[in-house]
Amino acid sequence: MPIDPATGLVAALDIGGTKIAGALVDGEGRVRVRSRRPTPAREGGETVMAAVEAVLADLAASPLWETVGAVGIGSAGPVDASLGTVSPVNVPGWRDYPLVERVRRATGGRPVTLVGDGVAMTAAEHWLGAARGHANALCLVVSTGVGGGLVLDGRIHPGPTGNAGHIGHVPVDLDGEPCACGGRGCVERIAAGPPLARRALENGWRPGPDGDVSAAAVAAAAQAGDPIAVAAFERAAQALAAGIAATAALVEIDLAVVGGGVAGAGEALFAPLRRSLDTYARLSFVRNLTVVPAATGTDAGLLGAAAAAMPPGAGATG
Ligand SMILES: [Zn+2]
Repeated sequence: MPIDPATGLVAALDIGGTKIAGALVDGEGRVRVRSRRPTPAREGGETVMAAVEAVLADLAASPLWETVGAVGIGSAGPVDASLGTVSPVNVPGWRDYPLVERVRRATGGRPVTLVGDGVAMTAAEHWLGAARGHANALCLVVSTGVGGGLVLDGRIHPGPTGNAGHIGHVPVDLDGEPCACGGRGCVERIAAGPPLARRALENGWRPGPDGDVSAAAVAAAAQAGDPIAVAAFERAAQALAAGIAATAALVEIDLAVVGGGVAGAGEALFAPLRRSLDTYARLSFVRNLTVVPAATGTDAGLLGAAAAAMPPGAGATG
């Protein structure tokens, strides 16, 4: 089914542990139709798939559906784009689940492209956000986990299975704590929201009257100058900086884009992040690395899934 880049649309799916979002996206990155369902993450695999099909049915009810030429999926990982399967950590009913084939069947045989959610966010930032115009960049999502993706030589670099750039599981603490991935001392184990908040609590930070002990609450305390909260963000920033510096040394990026809920802390995160990068990224070819907040917001997953499926010439190539 050929798509006319000028008028055709891409159907995008953003699949996470709490919600399944879908949209029809045009070649300029405009969301024309959208739908959303909660992810029945504790249910069996077919129940989760039924929720995906319900989102697709909402999209297919639009008169614009006729112009949809391709489908892009950004999914919580791990994914295996080479096999078309997903095994999201937070969706136990899906293990090596053949999502690409199921979505292809549900969408009348349209071509389906699958990428991990970190790669999707990177594709969105490169197409429409803070990495636009950059040939070599690392994009990070720092929230309940830490994900990421790479732009190399002007193109998204998903890697063979769609997981390349997964900075959350780069070890930065040689004898660090065990990580959910089976490794130890990973960036995610230190910089994600839950360990960040835990560190603040362990060091004596106490929540306000509402009892909120989330990373967002620690961020508010850091912004108000609470020294323990500030230190918790400094530690998270240090882990992120070490991972970013390692990436820069390996593949020569000149930009790191940081999004996700923890990045919502603003300068509480970005100021120590820049300082730590000054400490870790010293060689001439990594010193010009800049760090900026992500710009595509809550639609990053959908726009990135769309970008991954856009045909060349439609605005989101590579
Ligand atoms: Zn790990």
